[in-house]
Amino acid sequence: MNGTVFDVQRFSVHDGPGIRTVVFLKGCPLNCFWCHNPESKCRVPDIGYVPGLCLGCGSCAAVCEAGCHRLEGDRHVFARMGCRRCGACAEACPTDALETIGRETDVESLIAEAVRDRPFYEATGGGLTLSGGEPLAQPAFAAALLSAAKQAGLSACLETCGFADWTDLRSVAALADMVLYDIKESDTDRHRAGTGVPLEPIVANLLRLSETGIRLELRCPIIPGWNDRDGHWQGLAGLAARLRGLEGIRLMPYHPMGASKAERIGLDSANMPKDFPEPDTVATWVRTLQALTDVPVGSG
Ligand code: SF4
Ligand code: SF4
Ligand code: SF4
Repeated sequence: MNGTVFDVQRFSVHDGPGIRTVVFLKGCPLNCFWCHNPESKCRVPDIGYVPGLCLGCGSCAAVCEAGCHRLEGDRHVFARMGCRRCGACAEACPTDALETIGRETDVESLIAEAVRDRPFYEATGGGLTLSGGEPLAQPAFAAALLSAAKQAGLSACLETCGFADWTDLRSVAALADMVLYDIKESDTDRHRAGTGVPLEPIVANLLRLSETGIRLELRCPIIPGWNDRDGHWQGLAGLAARLRGLEGIRLMPYHPMGASKAERIGLDSANMPKDFPEPDTVATWVRTLQALTDVPVGSG
């Protein structure tokens, strides 16, 4: 079983219990304006370009059959229109100014990579986490990965935005020990405006998932000036009160690294916030939400 991933991170301590290996799958049905992993949105590989690393050698123009690269004097111009994402230019680039982001790989290779850190998982209660993008954009691959992780004796977590077919979510989540479930906004209109999709099916899926009794953590990206407001804290607390198996709420403070990643793959980053929230601000968010719920609230 093959699928497309854009990263594998070892020794993560923020993506489920203990030390974990996180496999990031490509593809996402949302279009959050602050997206911290814009290279995950597209299901197929992206071509990254960092102009500051370019020597103007012309190797990319020589191999690109779509004519996307040209030299104007000693200046290299990359016009993405018509790009077939074949990766030939990235292979030819001597400086890594061009890079293919995302690769097709198979379940066996990923599990072989993950089991190398088994001693760390056993010492900390960690394991494998599927993230993205949205793992359920590749439901068969996600299911095969979680199933293979279980067969290898690894704890497995699924992180999901919840905007998925219920049948896929139910069957893939059933293979996980815990689900990290993203809730980005409590207000319907604001949710659609900020992410491009409605909130209702996400909440409906969460409530159905909760009825299965699976361990849950809510993951809530907090974007200063957008959802750090009383109505959202109250919405999160009200939702938490309706969930079985909820072990905690993790606030995920916005970080602006997504902007440079977006520019690298040719996306517009103009609407993305530019600043980190201050630690005191994050602490205030946690205190404010904690005062509204009995569920443990953390951040990071
Ligand atoms: S759900 Fe996550 S990966 Fe998808 S667009 Fe939103 S922030 Fe990006
Ligand atoms: S990925 Fe292929 S089609 Fe796209 S710019 Fe590079 S060589 Fe050309
Ligand atoms: S191959 Fe790389 S270094 Fe050479 S012109 Fe193209 S982007 Fe620049």
